[in-house]
Amino acid sequence: MKKRLAVNILLIGMLMLTACGGAEKSAVLQQGGNDNAENVLTENKVEVIGGNQTDESSKSVMQEEEAIDAKPDEDSKTVELQGETVSAESDEREIQWNVAESVQEEESLGNPRSSYGLGSAPYLEGRNILVSMFVTTPESTWTEEEKQQMLKKVETAAVYIEEAARSYEIETELIYDFTEYPELYKETVVDFLINEETDFLDRLDEEIALWFEESIDYTKMVDTFEADGIATMVFVNNPGISYAIVYDGTDNVKESLVLFSEDYYNGGKAELPITYAHEILHIFGAHDLYEGAEFTSEVTEYVETTYPREIMLTVTLSGNSETVIDADVSPITAYHLGWLNEIEEINLYPQLIRE
Ligand SMILES: [Zn+2]
Repeated sequence: MKKRLAVNILLIGMLMLTACGGAEKSAVLQQGGNDNAENVLTENKVEVIGGNQTDESSKSVMQEEEAIDAKPDEDSKTVELQGETVSAESDEREIQWNVAESVQEEESLGNPRSSYGLGSAPYLEGRNILVSMFVTTPESTWTEEEKQQMLKKVETAAVYIEEAARSYEIETELIYDFTEYPELYKETVVDFLINEETDFLDRLDEEIALWFEESIDYTKMVDTFEADGIATMVFVNNPGISYAIVYDGTDNVKESLVLFSEDYYNGGKAELPITYAHEILHIFGAHDLYEGAEFTSEVTEYVETTYPREIMLTVTLSGNSETVIDADVSPITAYHLGWLNEIEEINLYPQLIRE
């Protein structure tokens, strides 16, 4: 089992961004109408559930697959950004850029990674900002209409999340509407292709790190909106596997999501709001609850049986569309998000205990 030390990056005054090592990547694979088919990338590994495992050479999205016990840091690439100061100012809200204080052990499976209470988007309550960054690539750009379509899907995801919170008696508001708040709109251009033949994931993660340095001031935005947290949604108008870049105690204190317009594994069909909601929940602490991702099969089987419509279990539920999210936030995810402080499942399965 691979173990890794979590470095307190605040103390060394330098942000080490691991291009893929800190990223949680997930996606759903639909094959032959099998609703349970999932393809999951976590820490550079992919577990295909009910689907076909594909080739295993390095780099590209399809090719990042490794055995479940693969070393998380293998192949990861680091970018050093000098002079990064991620904390200090907004201390009264006590939430920004909280970093892990102690050495932690990581294992590939059964030792969940979480951004709960950590990073730029620590808690899903109060107000949280979602900045939009639209990326133009050599093969794709965005029309105004397409941007509005993305905004509409994010709205569907946000309303769903806010209502789910309310059902647990938690008030939360997501601030994302760049039509109303133009400062939440950003755009940029990259000069590399976004397709499975390239190492675009590493390069995209590097670009994201640079944007955060140069064009998105998290601290200032949080102050301006009197918000409690912030993350960026990076929109790419290509088929791809949407993923969350969560702060895991080591990398990516400034949290973000990479959201593709189309689902790579679903014949290029439009990504649905349920996928965006799933990814948004990740940055606030929700864990993947499907087999082979973060917990043992004992737990994932329990979730499948007990909460079959759980949003962190699957995003291929029937009833979902480009305007509707039909899924549950189970007590397990509510607990991981901090909406509940106690659930019976943590006695049955201590691995579910939130860190
Ligand atoms: Zn996920």
